[in-house]
Amino acid sequence: MPYCRMCGSGTVIAYLPYAKMSLCQKCFLEFYVRRVKNTVEEFKMFREDDVVGVAVSGGKDSSALIHSLSKAFPKLELKALHINLGIPEYSDHCESRVRLLVKSLDIELYVFDVKKRLGFTIEDFMKTRFKRKICSICGTIKRHIFEEMALEANVRVLATGHNLDDIASVMLNTFFNGNWSQLTRIKPLLPPLAENMAYKVKPLIRSPEKENLLYCLYGELPIRSLGCPHASQTGIRKYMQLLERFSEEDPGFKYIILNRFLELIPMIENVFPKPELTRCRLCNFPSTNEICSYCKRILLVKQKDASA
Ligand SMILES: [Zn+2]
Ligand SMILES: [Zn+2]
Repeated sequence: MPYCRMCGSGTVIAYLPYAKMSLCQKCFLEFYVRRVKNTVEEFKMFREDDVVGVAVSGGKDSSALIHSLSKAFPKLELKALHINLGIPEYSDHCESRVRLLVKSLDIELYVFDVKKRLGFTIEDFMKTRFKRKICSICGTIKRHIFEEMALEANVRVLATGHNLDDIASVMLNTFFNGNWSQLTRIKPLLPPLAENMAYKVKPLIRSPEKENLLYCLYGELPIRSLGCPHASQTGIRKYMQLLERFSEEDPGFKYIILNRFLELIPMIENVFPKPELTRCRLCNFPSTNEICSYCKRILLVKQKDASA
């Protein structure tokens, strides 16, 4: 019969194999918040007098992120940024969960309604040649909109819910495919692309996916119960499965990958210089091309509309 490593209680709810540690509900929630706080401080992501925008989707990772940040840094000014993608049933469900969560935390919410603001929805990409790549399209569009929202909400820092499993699998993908320039994107602290844009931070980089879910369940956070209808088996999944297999042998494997890559990134950045950035001719955002990948995709969906 296991006992809680922190307080000795017999009602254990979580076992953390990489630390050989069993914890009760109260101690697990405290442990989780403390790790988020330590990660923010380790990478100097922000100070307690900052204004931090948090990208919230209604899912487990970003919900655990905004809740734990509010507990770890009670004086921090947090703003919740949510995108309603216009996916029938799913998007309104996600928004309703986000509304409940931020209300319980007394955090200001900004919602970007894609249909109202841009006149199309993610669904419209199903009519284009990007049909099979809808997850990657959606990622490109969300990244751009969050940058815009960070400007509108006037936050200095934008926090996202990328977890340990996400980051470690992108690291493996980068390694096996040699996409070294991608590595810079997964740094825990990313400087702004241009003046007055936001810093980007990943406070959950040391939090395993499973523990984000446990945090939401045991912290009784309102999270979405519907899955995205467009979710597909992306290339990254393969590396997640690989990570799981290695973790069976060595429960600390994901942390080993993360730590080795964090050491490597500065060296890789020295060898592969950053690409030159210009401004997108259409939206004026920093871009490597004359028209940025966001605007290219928007143009495509609008052309489909016009020809329909
Ligand atoms: Zn305990
Ligand atoms: Zn653009």
